[in-house]
Amino acid sequence: MFALPELNYDYTALEPHIDALTMQIHHTKHHQTYVDKLNAGLAGTEYEWYTNDELTQLVSLTNSLDSSIQWIVRNHWWWHLNHSIFWQNISPNDTKFNDLEVLKEKILSDFWSFEDFQKSFDNKALALFGSGWTWLELSDDKLQITNYPNQENPSMYDKKPILWLDLWEHAYYIKNQNRRPEYISNFWNLVNRQDVSWRLVS
Ligand code: MN
Repeated sequence: MFALPELNYDYTALEPHIDALTMQIHHTKHHQTYVDKLNAGLAGTEYEWYTNDELTQLVSLTNSLDSSIQWIVRNHWWWHLNHSIFWQNISPNDTKFNDLEVLKEKILSDFWSFEDFQKSFDNKALALFGSGWTWLELSDDKLQITNYPNQENPSMYDKKPILWLDLWEHAYYIKNQNRRPEYISNFWNLVNRQDVSWRLVS
């Protein structure tokens, strides 16, 4: 059975950038609901014994799964994975890209400057139509920024996800309402550069 992961910080810890009520509902309602749906959907299959420890193992299996559970995996399981890692991608702790040599070199090499990197990410996030996520991904050893709809993840297309931002309205509507740019701007105060750096080199 999959389980809702604990967060490494309190719901209030990301204030004022993301409010506590949003965090609480996002984690205990939205995320929990899809963990429950995933467990219900996999019950009685050979995957019902999978736990969070096997969270990434279904990645390579997605396309080969029986059609009866492929839909469940493509939606509920990816929902679970994307959120589990999103919670680690953000942090109340202040970290700087400049502290992290490999990530710093890679961003400067592929985007010219941190400002250009951030502007590219912002513009892509602002351009997302409907619900989905904006991703910094590694493709053929080059960093690029891409939008995918719903719960699609770069791993589905043999690209490596490095940093991602949930742009479903449930991620910001209580605080920011229709002001998606405000939420995207606040996100930069929370990016866990240590985690991003680790994903790049691991
Ligand atoms: Mn979400």
